[in-house]
Amino acid sequence: MLKRVIHWFELEPVGTLLSYDHGAMSRFVQAGALTDPKRTRYANCRVCKSSLPIQVQSWGEHLVRCTLCGGEVDFGIEFQSVSAKLSWLPNSLAAQIDSSLNPAVTLIENRLWRLSEATSATTAVYLLRSTINLDLEPILAALNADFDDGRRLILTTSPFRNMPEPTAETTFLPLDEVAHMEPEGIRLDARSLLPQLIDQVPLWFELPPPYNRLTLAGETLPLRRRQPDFMRLLRLAHAAGQKKASWRALLRRAGYRDVYTSLAQVFPDEVFRFIETSKDDVWIRKAPYPSRVPALIGRGRTTDDTSF
Ligand SMILES: [Zn+2]
Repeated sequence: MLKRVIHWFELEPVGTLLSYDHGAMSRFVQAGALTDPKRTRYANCRVCKSSLPIQVQSWGEHLVRCTLCGGEVDFGIEFQSVSAKLSWLPNSLAAQIDSSLNPAVTLIENRLWRLSEATSATTAVYLLRSTINLDLEPILAALNADFDDGRRLILTTSPFRNMPEPTAETTFLPLDEVAHMEPEGIRLDARSLLPQLIDQVPLWFELPPPYNRLTLAGETLPLRRRQPDFMRLLRLAHAAGQKKASWRALLRRAGYRDVYTSLAQVFPDEVFRFIETSKDDVWIRKAPYPSRVPALIGRGRTTDDTSF
């Protein structure tokens, strides 16, 4: 459900009309994420031949002109349409993060909001309405102008191409990692959000975007397929101060669909030189396990696997 809400919220241009589907949309209208359905018709321009949906009452139709060229229009069939209410998402999140702040503070119209008070004592939380190719410069400028005296967590509606690597001061985090949608509205998951609000700890390894190379004590492990997602989530847990994370939960969140009894079913031996597991937990080692000579290993793991 959250995916649909985010999709509507990110639609360009702002105010794009969506054909109203009662079964699929009424609950979102009720929750406040979408506007009330309104009578809509396609206005077909006699001059430039454009065809654009417009919300119009029957008594107002004779006043409608083409929005592109001002020409007279003919009307197509009648239907109901809605559009995303852009203030709903930031205000709903702000109400949960900092009840003293209502509504959310707009920093860039339709793009960036602050969801909490900005004080150096706490992590300031923001919402960024992102697009794949986001121009980050004005976003960072607005963030720096707003608050540069402490830690900032920026929830982004979707991941984007040039999403910056988390630092001790600033972390960009996709919204769906800390929130989900319920029938009555969006809900933040305290369990996954709270670790993000504490100070980041220094990391002993490097895993820069796009998260396909894990470097540990001078050795680099290339990551393939869904492994970068898994390691990125593990990195987030470490950066938030967790010494270990549940590998089953990480697999699920990284998009692995099967049921596994061991992480060795997912990763080749080489990966276990860099990570360590114990029962349900996984963590990144302080240094890679020495590379073993294939002739001594034989098939599968051998006696020195007690360290796993
Ligand atoms: Zn026209």
